[in-house]
Amino acid sequence: MALHIKEEANRCYLCKKPLCQEGCPIHTPIPAIIQLFKENKLMEAGEMLFNNNPMSIVCSIVCDHGSQCMGHCIQGRKGQPIQFYEIERYISDAYLDRMDTVTPAEKKQSVAVIGSGPAGITVAIILAKAGYRVTIFEERNMIGGMLRYGIPDYRLPHSVLDRYHDCLLKMGVQIRTHVVLGGDLFIEDLFRDGYASVFVGTGAWRPARLGIHGETLANVHFGISYLVNPGAHNLGKTVAVIGAGNVAMDVARTAFRHGAQRVMLFERRRSCRASDHEREFAELDGTEIFYEKGIQRITPEGPVFKHTLLDENNSIIGYEDEDELFKADSTIIAVSQGPKDKLVKTTEGLKANKRGWLLVDGKQMTTRPGVFAAGDVVHGSRSVVLAVRAAEEAAQAMINYMEQQ
Ligand SMILES: Cc1cc2nc3c(=O)[nH]c(=O)nc-3n(C[C@H](O)[C@H](O)[C@H](O)COP(=O)(O)OP(=O)(O)OC[C@H]3O[C@@H](n4cnc5c(N)ncnc54)[C@H](O)[C@@H]3O)c2cc1C
Repeated sequence: MALHIKEEANRCYLCKKPLCQEGCPIHTPIPAIIQLFKENKLMEAGEMLFNNNPMSIVCSIVCDHGSQCMGHCIQGRKGQPIQFYEIERYISDAYLDRMDTVTPAEKKQSVAVIGSGPAGITVAIILAKAGYRVTIFEERNMIGGMLRYGIPDYRLPHSVLDRYHDCLLKMGVQIRTHVVLGGDLFIEDLFRDGYASVFVGTGAWRPARLGIHGETLANVHFGISYLVNPGAHNLGKTVAVIGAGNVAMDVARTAFRHGAQRVMLFERRRSCRASDHEREFAELDGTEIFYEKGIQRITPEGPVFKHTLLDENNSIIGYEDEDELFKADSTIIAVSQGPKDKLVKTTEGLKANKRGWLLVDGKQMTTRPGVFAAGDVVHGSRSVVLAVRAAEEAAQAMINYMEQQ
């Protein structure tokens, strides 16, 4: 492994205008990091990575590298692009446990962070390093958000999140789990108790419904709910998955790992929304993908489809008459997610758009002064790196806001 990444680093041209860096949504300074790595300055390289992206180890594992850093590497035009993510993973892995977690002794105001996904963790780290007293409020029993309860452990070892937990504690961040803001406690309670500002990074945890007959059957489940605890479900041998995005691929692959023998995945159009990489792995695991199948209803025996009629733009223009039943022991709906509305309903002045995503200004402040937001709850269900990028902007805006208080 070490030899391979050394070779990979030596292959890099260290371009003056690095396309890989441009292709990275968070503009990781790739040539500078590779240069430090080649000089055996591992901790300096780690610090540069961490300061640019506190979730760099996670991104080195779950980002869509083929369309980002690696996909933009100039060497990929004629041969093998540099696999920077392997180098990034090695450096960030070493750095995470060895980094300096000392924060300023003199503390500034208190900040509440609601949600401990990548957005919440990023804000907590930046503000703790800047000397603020940070408390994370998390609904579930462990931190990590979709990284722990969505992305399966075989893709992202959840032990990484335990290491973030330790790192946050070492930085003095307080973590209160098993508490729902907008349910058990309210944002107004936080201001009453002296928090100078609040960050909302609550993600997108409401599964989209299909609104068809059979959705309430006992052998029908929602994808993100299934992934939270696959072992608690008894899906049987044959599983039907409705939807063909990245979540659907994770559902299919997880079902195989929990005893399913046949997993069928159904997509309305001619192509999947999932990245090629995720689709290829799902197919490698044995998932059968059926295209041009429009779900009509779900029966106890399995889902019923009609063949879709598509125009040249892949838009649905109608359905064939005939119904087609695909026999399955259980059906999982994985068509998309939206945000829950607890905070909007219980916080005066906090507004969302029609689809439920929180409204923010150009500096990530919501319509409620002092409350900032970023990540999936603002821009919809997207990716870790985009949640981190927006959370970094929010953290800086919170600092500016609190300095003016
Ligand atoms: C199955 C699946 C696979 C994915 N795979 C990838 C991938 O391979 N690569 C990639 O880049 N992205 C992937 N994503 C997307 C990525 O995980 C998300 O974009 C990212 O986690 C969003 O971060 P966040 O911090 O905004 O929200 P989340 O990660 O959703 O975290 C929100 C946190 O807030 C907590 N919370 C919610 N409401 C409350 C409340 N009222 N009070 C207290 N706490 C609350 C939640 O419990 C959760 O811990 C995947 C998503 C899913 C669902």
